[in-house]
Amino acid sequence: MGDNMKSEELYMRAKKVMPGGVNSPVRAFRSVGMNPIFIKRGQGSHLWDEDGNDYIDYVLSWGPLILGHAHPDVVSAIKKQSEMGTSFGACTELEVLMAEKIKQALPSIEVIRMVNSGTEATMSAIRLARGYTGRNLIVKFAGCYHGHSDSLLIKTGSGALTFGIPDSAGVTKETAKDTIISKYNDTEMIKAIFDRYDEDIAAVIVEPIAGNMGTVPPREDFLKALRELTLKCGALLIFDEVITGFRVSFSGAQGLLGITPDITTLGKIIGGGLPVGAYGGKEEIMRYVSPDGPVYQAGTLSGNSLAMAAGYTTLKILSENPNIYEELERRAEKLCRGLKESMEHLEIPVTINRVGSMMTMFFNGQGVYDYDSAIKSDTNLYAAYFREMLKQGIYLPPAQFETFFLSYAHSDEDIDRTIEAAYKAAGTFK
Ligand code: PMP
Repeated sequence: MGDNMKSEELYMRAKKVMPGGVNSPVRAFRSVGMNPIFIKRGQGSHLWDEDGNDYIDYVLSWGPLILGHAHPDVVSAIKKQSEMGTSFGACTELEVLMAEKIKQALPSIEVIRMVNSGTEATMSAIRLARGYTGRNLIVKFAGCYHGHSDSLLIKTGSGALTFGIPDSAGVTKETAKDTIISKYNDTEMIKAIFDRYDEDIAAVIVEPIAGNMGTVPPREDFLKALRELTLKCGALLIFDEVITGFRVSFSGAQGLLGITPDITTLGKIIGGGLPVGAYGGKEEIMRYVSPDGPVYQAGTLSGNSLAMAAGYTTLKILSENPNIYEELERRAEKLCRGLKESMEHLEIPVTINRVGSMMTMFFNGQGVYDYDSAIKSDTNLYAAYFREMLKQGIYLPPAQFETFFLSYAHSDEDIDRTIEAAYKAAGTFK
């Protein structure tokens, strides 16, 4: 990394006009002890900041860019659409194509509604679950993040976990009491919750592969237990696949793991880098959504033409090239092995959790399988690692409790360079 004068200058101005100088908290780089860099451009696996420094990007806008930055087909779809108008607030063919494409990939989704962010998707999904079941309680898992709507901003992950405020100020006690918290991967605890609350539970919402306390895969029987318990008591099972949808396989975590939820929430990849979200599921449930049913939900920009064009093009490329997932697996495995060896050869204890092209290296040698084990990680060491890697042109997530993402644009050469940098970074710890 060369100098970062322009980023520094922009940050000084940004701090005056935005909370923390940012529009989303983790971007402020607080937990890695430095000021943020300001990005000017992305192409493929690379990013360039305002000072002209070049990075290999493992954040990828927090997951959406599975094809890399500025994929030519996605760019051309956006250009073409923008010339025809950016937003109509009326029905378009692209929305139908999008819904059909998603349904084809995720058979549990029979009917789908597009929204503008993952937050909107999960917020709407729990309203629907309550409207459909006529029950109030929602069960979520500590360390899972489902966006920032009030009911879900409790014992949450991602930035809130990083900043030590997993329960946000401004969420009323009355709202919080309808959200029951269980431990991720703890089958006994969730059974006990169902014994106690039983038919008061409207839904269980879960990241089927967690990405917001860092990557944490589900244990063998965990999701199966959730499916059985919800079916037995008439509660709905919501898979929040905002990260995992079209990431871990073309049919998401549900296809990979063979468990079928009642409702699925999506975001990130389905927008191809533009703002988007969606929730969908069984027809009988989705018919409760307005105007078919009594659960109200709407949006001025929902199904926005530019987002549909970028998202549909991305999904089309993924569906026409199934080898993309095999390649991502091969490259991610190579990166994971390299990162692990770079630490092992100096006996620095780490745990690397990986599912396909999502992974996290925790500075914690004891294994990470839930919130309690995740927070035992050495966040100071991660911060030092982040800064050292950044200096060498490797852009990792600026917080320990986040996921590294790979895109199809990451070449073997990118990965070799990253592993080389990882050996150097590890060397600075000894
Ligand atoms: N659910 C999950 C699993 C997420 O990872 C996120 C965002 N990282 C959200 C929901 C919220 O999505 P958005 O930031 O688009 O509101």
